[in-house]
Amino acid sequence: MGKILNGKELAKLRADKLKETVKILKNDGIQPLFCVINIGDNPASKLYVRTKKRQAERIGIEEKIYQLPNDETEEDVINLIKKLNADPKVYGVMVQLPAPEQINVNHLMETIDPAKDVDGLTPSNMGRLWQGDHFVEPATPSGIIAMFDHYGIELAGKDAVIVGRSNIVGKPLAALMQERNATVSLLHTKTQNPEYYLKNADIVVSAAGQANLITADKIKEGAVVVDVGINHVNGKLVGDVAFDEVKEKASWITPVPGGVGPLTVESLMEQVVKLTRRANGR
Ligand code: NAD
Repeated sequence: MGKILNGKELAKLRADKLKETVKILKNDGIQPLFCVINIGDNPASKLYVRTKKRQAERIGIEEKIYQLPNDETEEDVINLIKKLNADPKVYGVMVQLPAPEQINVNHLMETIDPAKDVDGLTPSNMGRLWQGDHFVEPATPSGIIAMFDHYGIELAGKDAVIVGRSNIVGKPLAALMQERNATVSLLHTKTQNPEYYLKNADIVVSAAGQANLITADKIKEGAVVVDVGINHVNGKLVGDVAFDEVKEKASWITPVPGGVGPLTVESLMEQVVKLTRRANGR
């Protein structure tokens, strides 16, 4: 039976350490502060923004939320980002995604100062990620790598499959895993014969957003299985992995909830502190 990759526990461990670092900064008069811009009233986004704020408060980080109406223009959001870029008290700026359709997210990402890019999604930081010269990383992939490190899961020489190629999870995670010398296949809805890749994979990361996508018959005996998916089925929060059956075949597995989610939030906090320290020459 697979052992549990306990994201909740690891996130707490890392947060306790981070709290100490923040205490030292605050003693020296430096207050880590980041701003989250949320456009519209997507209930999931509002929940994520609140979850981040709670975690930030626990660590001693200040999070300022800019809640904008659903019909906000792209120009106004860009002007707000520029204002925050110019504010020396602000160390991090991020936009909660998704954004309403009148807004081109790429234009927002191009506007965020790369030195304040807590989410690691600006073109220059994404480019640096692929060049192997990065300072910030998108939060979910960063949390997953921290989890591999903590549990001693070796990536070098392993065949890894990531299901889902979004800019926030699949693509940056592929960059980070190949940097650790894994051989990475990035699967998506147009992939022919996904079973072929899955059955040969030593490590499977699913970030598709489809319940029961990864079943026991699809994976290799002893595979490491990481479930990024968040799905609501009959009022219950589940991932992409059929946990009960897959855990019998996997060597390691993340639960949902309590796996990747808490590490994502914690990794974001790590990046706020990283950028705060760098901006203050620490
Ligand atoms: P997305 O929703 O933008 O895109 C989904 C991706 O999965 C696409 O690339 C699509 O091609 C692929 N895909 C969908 N169904 C597939 C299938 N049947 N076979 C192969 N590929 C398939 O991606 P996202 O924003 O990365 O989100 C993915 C999931 O992860 C969602 O459930 C989201 O809620 C969740 N998520 C969780 C966290 C966390 O912290 N736990 C963070 C980010 C996203």
